Amino acid sequence: MPDATAGRPVLVTGASRGIGAAIAHRFAAAGDRVAVHHSGTGARAAEPHAELPGVGHVSVVADLRDADAVLRMVDEAADALGGLAVLVNNAGVFGTHPIHETGYPGWRRAWRETLDVNLLGAVNTTWAAVRHLQAGGRIVNVSSVSAFRGEWSAAAYAASKAGLNSFTQSMAVALGLRGIAVAAVAPGWVETDMTRDVLASPVGAAMRARSPFDRVGRPAEVADAVHYLASPAAEWCSGAVLDLNGASHAR
Ligand code: NAP
Repeated sequence: MPDATAGRPVLVTGASRGIGAAIAHRFAAAGDRVAVHHSGTGARAAEPHAELPGVGHVSVVADLRDADAVLRMVDEAADALGGLAVLVNNAGVFGTHPIHETGYPGWRRAWRETLDVNLLGAVNTTWAAVRHLQAGGRIVNVSSVSAFRGEWSAAAYAASKAGLNSFTQSMAVALGLRGIAVAAVAPGWVETDMTRDVLASPVGAAMRARSPFDRVGRPAEVADAVHYLASPAAEWCSGAVLDLNGASHAR
């Protein structure tokens, strides 16, 4: 049976690699047209949309720390795709800054940069995208299990994701009044550039052993969940934060 939602215009931030690339691929494989956002400074392809199946995709660039660039990027995506039906706020950064080992300038820099990308980047992208979304629109935010358990060496990351969960729930109410559903996924460890070194190190086995399945998540597993939360069937999931951690963390 054909997918009744196919052909939607979808913007995915941080879609040049990792989880974002898997999300972009999942929508494209279902027949949607995807704006693949990236920073423009990453090591991967300059035009990452060229790797997607199907037609009608574009690549758009903005440093999410730059609010003006975010506004331009979202409008460029909407212009190129003929509107927006789905926004996935996926882009994020992770850095460690243990409080006893980090000087004051480094501490302040880590908090500012992490919150600027992970929280304010998503907040500003959402503001810009809402101007293009109609009733039936969907926003899915990529949070993290860190929001619930904290991170002793990456407190800014955990706080940014806790803030993103709160933002998800605030927007679910505010935008539900216009027929737009807003939800989040909270993955545990997933093998991407962000985690590859840790997972390959001696502590990698302990990370995998946190799950009874003795592995970490796959980008495609997160992508499938995001695709569902962006579907018409998932309107009643609005306000939800979906755990995706293979039973490695219960809350
Ligand atoms: P990744 O492989 O490191 O990719 C990060 C993406 O974000 C890239 O596309 C990157 O663009 C983009 N990005 C980073 N800083 C940016 C900036 N200042 N402006 C614009 N784009 C920027 O990360 P990932 O592991 O796929 O993570 C994706 C999301 O999942 C993040 O929000 C992360 O917090 C969340 N998450 C990841 C895990 C995990 O274990 N991997 C677990 C839970 C949640 P460029 O390629 O242009 O640099």
